[in-house]
Amino acid sequence: MPDFDLIVLGAGPAGLTSAIYGARGGLSVLVLENKAPGGQAAQTSVVENYPGVPDVNGFDLAFTMLNQAKSFGVKVKTGALQNLTLDGDEKKVLLANGKEFTCSALIVATGAKSRLLGLENELDLAGKGISYCATCDGMFFKDKTVAVVGGGNTAVEDALYLEKIAKKVYLIHRRNELRADKIMSDRVKESTVEILWDSVVTQAIADEQLAEIEVKNVKTGSLSRVSVDGLFVAVGQTPNTDFLGATDKKPNLSTTGYIATDEEMRTNIDGVFAAGDVREKSLRQIVTACADGAVAANSAIKYLQGFHPVSTK
Ligand code: NAP
Repeated sequence: MPDFDLIVLGAGPAGLTSAIYGARGGLSVLVLENKAPGGQAAQTSVVENYPGVPDVNGFDLAFTMLNQAKSFGVKVKTGALQNLTLDGDEKKVLLANGKEFTCSALIVATGAKSRLLGLENELDLAGKGISYCATCDGMFFKDKTVAVVGGGNTAVEDALYLEKIAKKVYLIHRRNELRADKIMSDRVKESTVEILWDSVVTQAIADEQLAEIEVKNVKTGSLSRVSVDGLFVAVGQTPNTDFLGATDKKPNLSTTGYIATDEEMRTNIDGVFAAGDVREKSLRQIVTACADGAVAANSAIKYLQGFHPVSTK
């Protein structure tokens, strides 16, 4: 007899919604998270596009989901994944601390992490001026000068968030058009944030702490130095799938490394589902993560009731 009907890997919005729907569907559910619960949503300063909640702090929204899941009897534990056995009716999850849990169905909702910029000394300067989370580290740069790299929603949100804290904010984008939603793009263009178009950061210059960045204009090739105390990297994400290196059977991945599923969130492995940002999809939002989570839990419930679906992948 497995320890749980359903184990959910990841306690972000996708994982927590899976857990809520699974528990409400009568399953015993364990959520395993290797960091703090809430995922990337918990690092978002303001969420304005989650329907029904017009303006909420991402941390508060994520923790409301966590408490909601717990109120339905979901167990939540912390630990790094060491090994997964996915083939067969009983799935096994081994944690680095030696604890092992078994289940009949598994939902992978491990999300995605920040992509690195690729500067030579980037990781050495993480925490010494370079950051990947404006809401976590923004207050360290009160009344200072910072730059944000990227042109997506995260970069624009970060720039607008930092504008309220820092003395001066640059937004450095490699093209002359932002990728962010129009409403956010318009907002940043109307703000005091100075946008350096067609530009990339080629060097971080530091002694102990970041002091300057070298910026290259990709159209003219000209190089310039900008004095900054902080550099916030917001150039997209990569899926958290490293743990798949230690599985007996691998879910199929897309060409960009995200887990391939069908519309029911089924992977190519029976009883294994994926939901949220770790899944190949066109729109990564809190609301789409939650929707994935609900569908994945529903598919897990059907699977456990014996409707063993034939996966399309
Ligand atoms: P993203 O949408 O993939 O944007 C990444 C940005 O970084 C792009 O502008 C890209 O430039 C740039 N970039 C990529 N690699 C680069 C490099 N090596 N050097 C310089 N620039 C580079 O990523 P994201 O902003 O993290 O957002 C991820 C997902 O979450 C998206 O689906 C986004 O809509 C969603 N999100 C939504 C909200 C919200 O709705 N409230 C908030 C945050 C994130 P190009 O444009 O030239 O490709």
